[in-house]
Amino acid sequence: MLTARNLTKNYSNLHVLKGVSVSVSKGEIVTIVGSSGAGKSTLLHILGTLDTPTSGEVWLNDTNLSLLKGNALADFRNRHIGFIFQFHHLLPEFTALENVSIPAYIAGTRKAAVRERAAYLLETLGLSGRLEHKPNQLSGGEQQRVAVARALINQPDIVMADEPTGNLDSKNARELHQLFIELRDKFQQTFIIVTHNEELAPMSDRQLVMKDGGIVGEILASATQK
Ligand code: ADP
Ligand code: ADP
Repeated sequence: MLTARNLTKNYSNLHVLKGVSVSVSKGEIVTIVGSSGAGKSTLLHILGTLDTPTSGEVWLNDTNLSLLKGNALADFRNRHIGFIFQFHHLLPEFTALENVSIPAYIAGTRKAAVRERAAYLLETLGLSGRLEHKPNQLSGGEQQRVAVARALINQPDIVMADEPTGNLDSKNARELHQLFIELRDKFQQTFIIVTHNEELAPMSDRQLVMKDGGIVGEILASATQK
């Protein structure tokens, strides 16, 4: 589903990515791990079209992402890629339901369909009683689940998460990873997650270990964990 070939990223003479190739299948949860400065965020941002490589290509299904520009890129990204960040970036003056709905309105989905799907997602994520709450009326874990619902509203091919548990306590962090696993099992949802969380990375299907701008190892989940 997602294939990246020979990605490099240079900042003048700093070589942040030195020829990285990755491929991710539908319904897989892949984590990117490794020490700080290894290039994890840079790789994730390039895979998610938030940044461009110095050389190399990224394909999502049969679209060469490297060729998309301007409005076509913004539209493609909104429809096909969901994002979850360390800080939820919810809009404070909008309710949970409205925050989740925004990417679907941008995509031009009918209002009734958006409302139904946003409510369905929030209920699925355990937020039935929170639809009309604003972000500051929600706990940290609840806010992050609203951000997950927002990432899923357009049924993206892939969800990219950059340290999604970085701002959560260990209980909420574990629950969020459990939620990713449920979404994989229920919807065949695909995830790429950058994480420092050493307890949670092993819950993924595959860990890509980065060091100094390259992938130096790959750890598969044991059969018993799946
Ligand atoms: P990680 O996510 O693994 O901590 P990053 O991808 O954030 O690593 O960064 C990898 C390297 O690239 C670091 O040395 C960082 O300082 C450098 N870097 C990241 N973004 C920029 C930038 N915009 N300009 C210059 N150097 C950058
Ligand atoms: P159907 O039974 O019509 O095939 P699906 O199993 O595709 O329906 O979806 C059932 C519900 O789950 C629908 O409300 C749909 O919008 C929602 N859904 C489907 N795919 C995803 C996804 N990737 N993430 C979240 N919700 C989804």
